[in-house]
Amino acid sequence: MLHINEHYLKLQASYLFSDIARRVAAFQEKHPEREIIKMGIGDVTNPLPPACIQAFHQAVDEMASSESFRGYGPEQGYSFLREAIAKHDFQSRGAKVDADEIFISDGAKCDTGNIQELFALDARVAIPDPVYPVYLDTNVMAGRTGAFQDGRYQGLVYLDSTAENGYVPSLPQEPVDLIYLCFPNNPTGSTITKAQLQTWIDYAREHKALILFDAAYEAFIRDESLPHSIYELDGAREVAIEFRSFSKSAGFTGTRCAYTVVPKDCMAYDREGKAHSLHALWNRRHSTKFNGVSYPVQRAAEAVYSEQGKAECRALIDDYLANARLIAEAMDQLGYAHVGGKNAPYIWVQSKRDSWEFFDALLEQAGVVCTPGAGFGKCGQGYIRLSAFNSRANVEKAMERIATAFK
Ligand SMILES: *Cc1c(COP(=O)(O)O)cnc(C)c1O
Repeated sequence: MLHINEHYLKLQASYLFSDIARRVAAFQEKHPEREIIKMGIGDVTNPLPPACIQAFHQAVDEMASSESFRGYGPEQGYSFLREAIAKHDFQSRGAKVDADEIFISDGAKCDTGNIQELFALDARVAIPDPVYPVYLDTNVMAGRTGAFQDGRYQGLVYLDSTAENGYVPSLPQEPVDLIYLCFPNNPTGSTITKAQLQTWIDYAREHKALILFDAAYEAFIRDESLPHSIYELDGAREVAIEFRSFSKSAGFTGTRCAYTVVPKDCMAYDREGKAHSLHALWNRRHSTKFNGVSYPVQRAAEAVYSEQGKAECRALIDDYLANARLIAEAMDQLGYAHVGGKNAPYIWVQSKRDSWEFFDALLEQAGVVCTPGAGFGKCGQGYIRLSAFNSRANVEKAMERIATAFK
C-alpha cells in the first residue's frame, strides 16, 4: 500500500483568498449595481517596461534562426544576467557578491520554498508572524513541525511583529538554527534598519545559524539609510542567503524570473561539526531539479539593468508608491494608525476591530476589497492590508468612497 506524506495533512487549508472571493461574490449578487474596487491585490497591475519588451521580442526572434537558436542553457542562469545582477544590485552598493554566487530561477516563491531541503529535519526554525505563508507551509510539508494548535504549529518559533516592536521582530529567547526574515515586509510594509539587521547577523554568527532574507520588495526602498541587501552588512556573507525577484521590481509576476544569492562563505554543519558549503549544496539541488529559465525571459530581465530599463522600472515603482501615499493620507484623515507604504507597496492598517469585521464593513459601505490581516498569521488579527498595486483612478475612487463611508 502506498502511503502519503502525512505531514501534508497538518497543513491548514488557506481559506483567505477563497473566503474573500466568496464574500465579494455574495455582495455582488445582492448589489449588482455596485462597482467593487479590489485593494487586496498582491499582484502588479502595470505592464512590463518597454526596455524589457524590446529585449524579450529580440530574443524570441533569435530562437527563430539556426545561427542564433539556443537549447538548454546553464541551470544556474546565463552569465550575461548573473554578471549584470552582481554589478548593479550588489557591487554598486558596496556588497561583495560574485556572479557565480547568483542562481537564476523562475520565482522567489519556489526558491524560498525549496531552500529548506538543504537542512536537517530537526533544525529549529524561526518564522515571522505575520508573513508571506510560503516559509511556514513548506516547513510543515517537510515535517519540521508538530500539529496545528490554537492558531499555530507546534515546534516552530514564531517571531511576533507587532506595534510594540515596530513590526520588526526581536531576537528569539530560545536557540534557533534557521531564521526567515522578509524586508520590506509582506504584509506589513515595514522595513528593517541596518543596525537592527546587524543584530540578526551577529546572532546567526554566534549560534552558527542561517538567515534566509527575502528582499522581494527591495526596489520599493526610497529611504537611503535602509539596507537593500543583507550583504551591505558586516559578516552577512557567512550566515545569509538572499532571495530577490523581478516580479515586483519589474512587473515579472506573469513572466517569471527571480534569483537567489548563496555566498561561497555560507556554511552549515554535519553531525560531526564539519562545515559544508551551502553554495555547493544549492548548486547540486538546483542543477538536479531545475533546468533553467527560458532564454528570452533572461534577456528581458537583463534589460532591467540598461539605462532605459532602470529609468522605466523606477517610474513603475514610483507610480505604485504614489498610490501608497494616497492610501496612507486617506487612513490618516480617518484616524486609522498604519505602517508601510513608504518603502513598500503595502499599507498595514490597524482596524480597531476584528480583521474580517473591518473587511465586511469596507465592502458593504465603500465597495472596497482589502485583505484581512488574520490571514497572514495570529499577529495579523486586528489589521488589514491595503495594496498599492492598482491604477491611480481606482485608488482615488476607493479612497473617496472610504472617506465618505467612514467619516
Ligand atoms: C511576491 C513575493 C515574492 C516573489 O515571488 P515570485 O515567485 O518571484 O513571483 C517573494 N516573496 C514575497 C514576500 C512576495 O510577496
